[in-house]
Amino acid sequence: MSSPLFPALENPSERVALTFGDRRLTYARLGSAADALAARITDTARITDTARIADAGRVTDATRVAVWATPALETAVAVVAALRAGVAAVPLNPKSGAKELEHILADSAPTLVLAAPGDELPSPVAELTRVDVDVDADVDMDADADADASGAAPGRFPEAGPEEPALVVYTSGTTGPPKGAVLPRRAVAATLDALADAWAWTGDDVLVHGLPLFHVHGLVLGVLGPLRRGGEVRHLGRFSTEGVTRELDTGATMLFGVPTMYHRIAQAVQREPELAKALGRARLLVSGSAALPVHDHERITAATGRRVIERYGMTETLMNTSVRADGEPRAGTVGVPLPGVALRLVEEDGSPIERWDGESVGEIQVRGANLFTGYLNRPDATRAAFTADGWFRTGDMAVRDPDGWVRIVGRKATDLIKSGGYKIGAGEIENALLDHPGVREVAVTGEPDADLGERIVAWVVPADPQSPPSERELADHVAGRLAPHKRPRVVRHLDALPRNDMGKVMKRSLSDPNKGTDA
Ligand code: ATP
Ligand code: MG
Repeated sequence: MSSPLFPALENPSERVALTFGDRRLTYARLGSAADALAARITDTARITDTARIADAGRVTDATRVAVWATPALETAVAVVAALRAGVAAVPLNPKSGAKELEHILADSAPTLVLAAPGDELPSPVAELTRVDVDVDADVDMDADADADASGAAPGRFPEAGPEEPALVVYTSGTTGPPKGAVLPRRAVAATLDALADAWAWTGDDVLVHGLPLFHVHGLVLGVLGPLRRGGEVRHLGRFSTEGVTRELDTGATMLFGVPTMYHRIAQAVQREPELAKALGRARLLVSGSAALPVHDHERITAATGRRVIERYGMTETLMNTSVRADGEPRAGTVGVPLPGVALRLVEEDGSPIERWDGESVGEIQVRGANLFTGYLNRPDATRAAFTADGWFRTGDMAVRDPDGWVRIVGRKATDLIKSGGYKIGAGEIENALLDHPGVREVAVTGEPDADLGERIVAWVVPADPQSPPSERELADHVAGRLAPHKRPRVVRHLDALPRNDMGKVMKRSLSDPNKGTDA
């Protein structure tokens, strides 16, 4: 039998596993609620699904169940239950539009949807068979009988095999329509154990969590991570700096966030001394999902004495690199490959870059047990994502410092600007511009240019809309900090940057307003 994903559920204890607002579940209660729901998933799937039944008590890897992933206790219980039942969970973003939901449902063909009682489901989701998540449920006797027949402990299901899918998570859709990444159970286990090693993450840690639960960051790292360690997660429902202060003041030890949250923290620490003090006490502040601007990182460190640990991952690969908890502080880097992850940088022609000189830019390619098995229903996209010798092409560009630390310069598709014979990463220009007091937010892109091939465009949200910094001023500012060829040639002002629900800038919807192609 495979080893359990959540050892702490094998010996149910009265330790708190999940806290969402004023609702909490101990490991004992989580175990019984999840097992009761797993039995209902299995029963419902048997009736409504034509899927193969692998053995008594469990449906097969062909079965997927959708989870209406609100930031609530029910979502966490639903995913744990699906994993107990051995089916793959497909988390749905409740804020998605009908078109996106239709795409995901047609693609993933879930057997049923798990939702919190009372949650209203919009049209394409409402048409699925619905199973309400009861967080107070106990294991029922029928489920016991089934499980007994398969030789498992009463109320338990045989653990699914390591290659069976645990989750189908859709990518953020930053560069195109979301693709469903099929994540096997071994990838979830491998990534969480590698992070435990890098971060000295144990069952004593209590995580403050304010992220959505339908992506890898909030779900795999933020919920399954603490549960695999036997620790506790406290979800804020909605991120707030007051919530962060409160939880860190009452025993929480770590915080996971995206850069937009750390941006809010960087502003708030100036006027909320309690927040600065609370952050100063945290064991670990972790950022990921997008690059953490150096400017925000430095402001947080100045106010709290703490640095933020950056880790780099993707839906398809889970986590690839991280700064280690005992590593030296260094802003603007995502650290070193995690244990079990092989990482290389390659030139456009596919040849590996051997130089770790902090300057040679190449695409990050990875291998390891943390990788997905492929995109659902997209054999061509899956094939295209791997090299002939089995490396996954991340599409992210980076350099390595002489000691091997990885610095991401941006995405190949949107952040690598080829201008005047140079390959320029948008990230360092963005960091330089954020250092200018007149710039609140910025995104840098490339645009076709007759002379240069591409010209550098800075999309700027000015700190004061009444007196935005001039093009000349910003060009000089960048030229004074980086090389002159990295200065923006065009500056366009915006009220806000287009961002998705993870706070990622949607660069593909930024285009020249004068060309009438605005998205
Ligand atoms: P899509 O693949 O649908 O276009 P997406 O790539 O944004 O969307 P995700 O899988 O959620 O979807 O995001 C992974 C990407 O996020 C990485 O490829 C990388 O570009 C970016 N990323 C994640 N962590 C970091 C980080 N610490 N620094 C810089 N970029 C990061
Ligand atoms: Mg991607």
